[in-house]
Amino acid sequence: MKNQDNLPKDGPILPTSPQIEIDEKWMNQALEQARIAATHGEVPVGAVLTEAGSLLAIAGNSPIYLNDPTAHAEILVLREAAAKKGNYRLPGTTLYVTLEPCVMCIGAILHARIERLVFGALDPKTGAVQSCYMIGSDGLLNHRLEITSGILGDACSTILKDFFRPRREGKNPLPNR
Ligand SMILES: [Zn+2]
Repeated sequence: MKNQDNLPKDGPILPTSPQIEIDEKWMNQALEQARIAATHGEVPVGAVLTEAGSLLAIAGNSPIYLNDPTAHAEILVLREAAAKKGNYRLPGTTLYVTLEPCVMCIGAILHARIERLVFGALDPKTGAVQSCYMIGSDGLLNHRLEITSGILGDACSTILKDFFRPRREGKNPLPNR
């Protein structure tokens, strides 16, 4: 793993090819989940968990639908995968998510011992991995996470902007997130 002591605050952390093509393939699946979430009025964020190149779990953000403040896409895939594997730890897995995880989700990612986190868009307001905090790479916790960001970053960010634009213009109420 490369040294990640100096993560950029506002730029991508990209792997080299061919890893980037694999990452984009999974991120496209996460994006599809984000699109589905948007059609349900949820903030469009999607996540995919993989192990050794195979899909373990996939989900879209669902706190409104599930009446569950913890039902972020990341939490849903961790729950599904852990239940499937019969293990609350998920070592050797990679989590793909369209948006930089929040404090709650990076906490869960570390508890689950995820090996690698790949996210698309930065979240300058609540991102807890690279933007507001650097949980997972600041050296304060034992489990060190391999982090990649900016995979399909523009597409992941555009879907959020498109979702919030009409709401900002007062055409639709904001979801309670
Ligand atoms: Zn979250």
